[in-house]
Amino acid sequence: MEQWLIANQYLCRFGVFIVAFLAFALWEKSSNWRQRLTSRRTRWLRHFSLAAISKLCIRLVIPIITISTAILMQSKGLGLLHQSHLPYLTQFMLGLLAFDLALYVQHRMLHKYRWLWRFHRVHHIDKELELSTGLRFHPIEEMYTVGIKILAVGFFGILPLAVLLYEILYSLSLLFAHLNIRLHNKTEKALQRLIVTPGMHRIHHSDYSEETNSNYGFCLTWWDRFFKTYNEVSVSGERKLVFGLEEYRDPKYQSLINLLLLPLDLRYLRVKHIKRPKTKMKAY
Ligand SMILES: [Zn+2]
Repeated sequence: MEQWLIANQYLCRFGVFIVAFLAFALWEKSSNWRQRLTSRRTRWLRHFSLAAISKLCIRLVIPIITISTAILMQSKGLGLLHQSHLPYLTQFMLGLLAFDLALYVQHRMLHKYRWLWRFHRVHHIDKELELSTGLRFHPIEEMYTVGIKILAVGFFGILPLAVLLYEILYSLSLLFAHLNIRLHNKTEKALQRLIVTPGMHRIHHSDYSEETNSNYGFCLTWWDRFFKTYNEVSVSGERKLVFGLEEYRDPKYQSLINLLLLPLDLRYLRVKHIKRPKTKMKAY
């Protein structure tokens, strides 16, 4: 079974992605928490184009993938977990945790370093959040992310099947976290004990810098809690939360070509400090 899953990893990943995307799209359509500013067709076309360009760049520039790295490290017995000789299941679970931690760190670096923020801004200047925002990343940021993933898989010696499962969970989390839906308060609170929810991630897209620089997690909320970057509630309240970056409000920045060229804009190379008011809204 494991051999089959790994041999057919593209089929597994793509199959789960398509099913999840369609299911999430139906969920959004029936819920539609916030009024759309732009048509779904325009946004999907723009974001799928960006994702396709990213995939092409990764294929052309990076000769290996995470699973081939995991298979190589396993065959040579290299990497922290392979060296540990822990039982398979323990290695598997620790591998999932290590992968998620690595992605948390890479996201913090995207916000901390100016040369990385210039690419990550493409994701953050979106003025509305919905399913396809989870595909909206600059190709160079995507290549950087793949590079970090390969390093993490190699360094920790993550098992190939754990890599496949995490890659699937990662793409599902990206879609889920950006959904334009509103969960029931109790559900939101219960889920946030474990996983990143739309209610938690939308605070990361707030235009207040203290909120933009919080809630970095992808799958698990534990890293944000542990490293004290967890933000449970926006001061604006969910309804009034403003998405995007103040310096890129002009609609011209949203076109595909301008998203690709945005990193060449040498202005605003740090998250612009916008102080938030003191009033504190009630948590869930
Ligand atoms: Zn971010």
